[in-house]
Amino acid sequence: MRKNIVAGNWKMNKNLQEGVELAKELNEALKNKSVNCDVVIGTPFIHLASVVSSIDTNKIGVAAQNCADKGSGAYTGEVSAAMVASTGAGYVILGHSERRAYYHETPEILKEKVKLALANELTPIFCIGEVLEEREANKHFEVVKSQIEESLFELSTEDFAKIVLAYEPVWAIGTGKTATADQAQEIHAFIRKTVAKKYGEDIADNTSILYGGSCNAGNAKELFSNPDVDGGLIGGASLGVDKFMPIIEAF
Ligand code: PEP
Repeated sequence: MRKNIVAGNWKMNKNLQEGVELAKELNEALKNKSVNCDVVIGTPFIHLASVVSSIDTNKIGVAAQNCADKGSGAYTGEVSAAMVASTGAGYVILGHSERRAYYHETPEILKEKVKLALANELTPIFCIGEVLEEREANKHFEVVKSQIEESLFELSTEDFAKIVLAYEPVWAIGTGKTATADQAQEIHAFIRKTVAKKYGEDIADNTSILYGGSCNAGNAKELFSNPDVDGGLIGGASLGVDKFMPIIEAF
């Protein structure tokens, strides 16, 4: 059966010492607790190795927030999927709307990143989602469908089965606006159906689809109670254990 996952995305926040401290605090908070979801933290690249060695990675998975679309070579400033994997991180967030918008990541580029992540045994947390104008024009279904098709549907069934999807309406990210529980369920069910049409019911049933966009302690329970919402990708509220733990415990 598919997993429930609560994944934090720290974005470009916390220096190394602050990040290690936050990871340790979360580790401490989870130490003697059994929770009903997998927990992942998405840190900046420079934190990965230190965070991995400061926590129990059986309890907390570690994710990069990006990786290069090339394997290795003369790409100054880039960090490859193999380098991410060598830190002990097990996940990589790909296709976040901020990367699509500010760093011009196209479906083709993302396709390469996904392939390299999988080849290096990283689990991609692949983000999809529409902007406000697309939602208002009722185009959100076609937008997320093409985002999935263009970057993921050339994968073999075996590889697709390793993907975690994160539906993140761009208008809800960092804005304090959240999709309603009904809006989230409606589009998550659509995403699952889209996956089922391509890879079959079994794979679709086993694909974790997370919701992201101003998810917090106050709305997580309602969002996660939907049958097709399997957890959350959490930005702002993952930057403090006091805000992140109640989201984890919403399951
Ligand atoms: C995100 O960055 O993936 C996100 C969902 O951010 P926030 O929770 O702050 O809206």
